Amino acid sequence: YLQSMPKNETIKLREKHIGAACQLFFRSSPLKIVRGVAQFMYDETGERYLDCINNVAHVGHCHPHVVEAGRNQMSLISTNNRYLHDELVILAERLVKTLPEPLSVCFFVNSGSEANDLALRLARIHTKNKDVITLDHAYHGHLTSMIDVSPYKLNLPGGPEKPEWVHVAPVPDVYRGKYTYPKDSTSEEELGLMYADEVGKLCKEAKDKNGGVCAFIAESLQSCGGQIIPPDGYLKKVFEYVREADGVCIADEVQVGFGRVGSHMWAFETQDVVPDIVTMGKPMGNGHPVAAVVTTPEIAKSFADTGVEYFNTYGGNPVSCAIANAVLDVIEEERLMERAARVGNHLLSRCEDLKHRHRLVGDVRGRGLFVGVELVTDRETRTPATAEAKHIVNRMRDEKILISRDGPDSNVLKFKPPMVFTTQDADRLVDTLDRVLGELDGDSIAVPKLTLEVRVTPISDDSSSDKLRNTMQQSVKAT
Ligand code: PMP
Repeated sequence: YLQSMPKNETIKLREKHIGAACQLFFRSSPLKIVRGVAQFMYDETGERYLDCINNVAHVGHCHPHVVEAGRNQMSLISTNNRYLHDELVILAERLVKTLPEPLSVCFFVNSGSEANDLALRLARIHTKNKDVITLDHAYHGHLTSMIDVSPYKLNLPGGPEKPEWVHVAPVPDVYRGKYTYPKDSTSEEELGLMYADEVGKLCKEAKDKNGGVCAFIAESLQSCGGQIIPPDGYLKKVFEYVREADGVCIADEVQVGFGRVGSHMWAFETQDVVPDIVTMGKPMGNGHPVAAVVTTPEIAKSFADTGVEYFNTYGGNPVSCAIANAVLDVIEEERLMERAARVGNHLLSRCEDLKHRHRLVGDVRGRGLFVGVELVTDRETRTPATAEAKHIVNRMRDEKILISRDGPDSNVLKFKPPMVFTTQDADRLVDTLDRVLGELDGDSIAVPKLTLEVRVTPISDDSSSDKLRNTMQQSVKAT
């Protein structure tokens, strides 16, 4: 196989030279992945895993068209965007064609964090306001500026302090959030308005105190907070409030963009809104670091009018742009959005069926190939089944299926596979999950035994050990 170092040597070297804060999936028995093809990854022994997590490998791991585009361009030239290059302008034009007016000006960067950082900078310059509204449990990146607006990190026991200019609105989670269905309302629209009013209150306070809002930043469907689908009408009303307070609306499409929702290219379109700034990343390069900010001519002009040049060494380099163009080619040619809708619907309805078969399954939600299965120990109280979720992720790995979990209580099973996922893959995922859930059915499930060995297993690429350790310990005590 491709990597010859024995696995224990790799582990030893990693422990010696890589910061401990960089965590592994399945820390007690990490995977060594040496190659990938489409929706599959292979370890050093040739064992094949079905990848149900990797939304970065959007058009499939190592798609030949994408690999070829990168290889070709790398052998020609890779330089910075101070030189004219067709790949850059073609990519900008193609992206803009997928977006509603007036979103038409692009900035290319290297990661989702950089994209969101630039979005915030644009918002500050354009509005001259400081107050930023974010959603609880949101994650927008690892840069210092992004941690400031990421309650996913701020909420941790050892997390940094929230700056006073950051205001946190409740996440519009109608299953376990502040307002739930059917307790607070049986109307989705009404729940949407209740949650939007929370943002409205924050806007009013910021306007009264500091003259206005800088920005509202949110994922169009909250992925890091636990695969949340906002109720209909939510973003529409939120955007109204934010704009009334002179703020701009930033849609973070880093995880949910590029057709994953099946019905639309961008997840904000499912809420029938047009943001002022859109950020995109992860799937854009299918594993190669490329990301972008797209905004309006008006906001871009405010930025240019400062007279300060924006230069980003790698942002928009020809190799990254050629790769992103190749990703767009594959999305179009292989009709991956249609596939996301078809396979996603199948996956969702099969997961729905699990609700009738297993008491642990409290809620099933999703759009396209973005699906969450929330596990609870009690359907009445909706108590999170954190330990069970951890156990299931590990059991699925035994079955050579990779899934993850997320949400403030790490009890939401997360499916966001490469878009080449098939209905057969979805069936295999759900059939296996059905069997694994079946092992936990019955009155006295073996959870205390399962959680005796409290090890921290990272739940996502940006999970935090402290929070998890805390949650796990609580759940051990509780069980
Ligand atoms: N926004 C969201 C919604 C994300 O999920 C992430 C990464 N998990 C980021 C931004 C940051 O992207 P990156 O890791 O590429 O900097």
